[in-house]
Amino acid sequence: RILLDNFSKSFGATKVIENMNLQVAHGEMLALLGPSGCGKSTTLFAVCGIHRPTGGRILFGDRDVTDLPSQVRNVGVVFQSYALYPHMTVAENIGFPLKVKAMPSADIRKEVDRIAALVQIGNLMGRHPSELSGGQQQRVALARALIRKPDVLLLDEPLANLDAKLRLEMRSEIRRIQRETGITAILVTHDQVEAMSMCDRIAIMKEGEIIQIATPAEMYSDPRTAFVAGFLGNPP
Ligand code: ATP
Ligand code: MG
Repeated sequence: RILLDNFSKSFGATKVIENMNLQVAHGEMLALLGPSGCGKSTTLFAVCGIHRPTGGRILFGDRDVTDLPSQVRNVGVVFQSYALYPHMTVAENIGFPLKVKAMPSADIRKEVDRIAALVQIGNLMGRHPSELSGGQQQRVALARALIRKPDVLLLDEPLANLDAKLRLEMRSEIRRIQRETGITAILVTHDQVEAMSMCDRIAIMKEGEIIQIATPAEMYSDPRTAFVAGFLGNPP
């Protein structure tokens, strides 16, 4: 499980998150849902190790990773811009995290084939990112994030760059891949439908605080505050 224990983050005098407590169960997919500027990305960046917390602890299982840099945390990340390496083929992009670890190339190839089958891009391995559609690029980014079998998959608005039709398709694809791998995942989004349709539980954030954590069904039928109800499009 992933645990944020009294997590706080400030930038200079600006307090963005104060004493947040959040637990994501093993194999669970949790949405961090809230309006722009509420601190979703800041929270995700702290889990992946890009931002150091200004207070509290972050644990992966029993391992305290608070002071560990992101390279040694074993997280897989997919951001809004997929940041694929343009000069590398799809296969090279996906295998890159293993190449960095100096894995022998025959083993890398085997792992790349395994993950490419999972995300269903086996036919694209020789192409370059510029020759792919948005949805295909996103599959490559997912494959690259998953290849090291990370402890947690972190997704920050991964569907934001896709058109409406692809967004629908990739919602269920990401969920399928998350279920098949059994990976623990955190999805950051400001889209309530995305959170409701993709995740086991939703944490609703407002101004750096978690207002309510519940399953989509509980959240919908029993919103704790008017803010939650309004955000879900179900005002009291
Ligand atoms: P969005 O949906 O627009 O991506 P968000 O919920 O991800 O929003 P964050 O990026 O976490 O929001 O930002 C939360 C707050 O922290 C904002 O007010 C932002 O201006 C501030 N902030 C984020 N990063 C920094 C930084 N490096 N320095 C100073 N302030 C920052
Ligand atoms: Mg953000």
